[in-house]
Amino acid sequence: NFRPAARVSNIRVSPTTEAAQKARDLKAEGKDILNLTVGEPDFDTPEAIKAAAAEAMSAGQTKYTPVNGTPELRAAIRGDFARRLNIPATDAQVCVGGGAKQILFLALMATVEKGDEVIIPAPYWVSYPDMVIANEGTPVIVPCPEEVRFKLTPAALEAAITPQTRWLILNSPSNPTGVAYSADELRALGEVLARHPHVWVLCDEIYDRIWFAEFDAVSILTVCPELADRALVVNGVSKSHAMTGWRIGYGVGPVPLIAAINKLQSQMSSCPSSVSQAAAAAALSGDQGEVDTQVAVYRERRDLAVERLNAIPGLSCLTPDGAFYIYASCAGTLGKTTPSGRKIANDADFVLYLLEEAGVAAVHGAAYGLEPYFRISTATSAEVIDAACARIAEACARLS
Ligand code: PLP
Repeated sequence: NFRPAARVSNIRVSPTTEAAQKARDLKAEGKDILNLTVGEPDFDTPEAIKAAAAEAMSAGQTKYTPVNGTPELRAAIRGDFARRLNIPATDAQVCVGGGAKQILFLALMATVEKGDEVIIPAPYWVSYPDMVIANEGTPVIVPCPEEVRFKLTPAALEAAITPQTRWLILNSPSNPTGVAYSADELRALGEVLARHPHVWVLCDEIYDRIWFAEFDAVSILTVCPELADRALVVNGVSKSHAMTGWRIGYGVGPVPLIAAINKLQSQMSSCPSSVSQAAAAAALSGDQGEVDTQVAVYRERRDLAVERLNAIPGLSCLTPDGAFYIYASCAGTLGKTTPSGRKIANDADFVLYLLEEAGVAAVHGAAYGLEPYFRISTATSAEVIDAACARIAEACARLS
């Protein structure tokens, strides 16, 4: 007689997780599957970071830490924000959680009431709408088409704001598109926000070190410091330092918001893992050479995938500014028929066709709120990307 609470029944299991699981299941059945669904680095955590964790364990750092993280990690986060983004922060403006995901969830939990609206530009990271719904808020999805590089324009933001708007969520570089906002674009959004002082901005910058664009990576807070009393900048080491399993993310924001997040954290998990915090502190303050090496590899893979996908009739994609995803249009395949006689009516059909007939696992665009597209992850070897693109090309050629 189990009865889940509405906050559970109203949300979905992450479609990315589901797609990844389906690929794993087929692989386990012995099928030859090239998996392009994975949203985590394929690199191992750099050795120096693992060594710092081992040292912390040997030194007895195996107990609860302060709710808002160890002083060493908070100092490393403040140093990173000051150095890379020119964002000054006091100690009380920093919170640390079990991944950026937890910080995002806690920020919404700490602020959103029933009926509050949260503006989410689409395509969006799959978790945002469900996190808002789980906290009884209303996601307001704003479609951002490819013509504007999948980015929120000032006019679209202005049109979406109502008296109920609590937050705008910005993700740059974006999962799933890899596009990033320039300083000028952020400034223009900041001008709209200046006219609506009740709207806060949640900036998810988890991919901002995996950066390929000509223009510099900037935070909205770097270019609009006047938003400091209503902006939460979220980041973490999962993607930048290949540390997804260590579960450390953090946020920098106004003191009352950070205090509210910490209060929730004190009742929820007490603190993130002490050993992981030592590792994250080492990641942020140590030599960044391995990050640069990994980014160079991601860039080569991006170039390879973009070139190969754009050469396939029926498909097309933009060149991402950062992150390790490509969001490709499959518009040219819609209405076509597969060799087994099935019609491709939407991107879910196309992705299913790729999985079943070509052995390539990707995620359909509808999961990210903008069709008809599919996302592939380039956090896998160039050989796999190359082979997958060849299979996709062959599968597209078999459509009639
Ligand atoms: N934000 C975005 C846009 C992501 O893609 C992810 C992970 O996929 C996260 C946040 C979560 O990162 P973390 O591992 O720090 O929880």
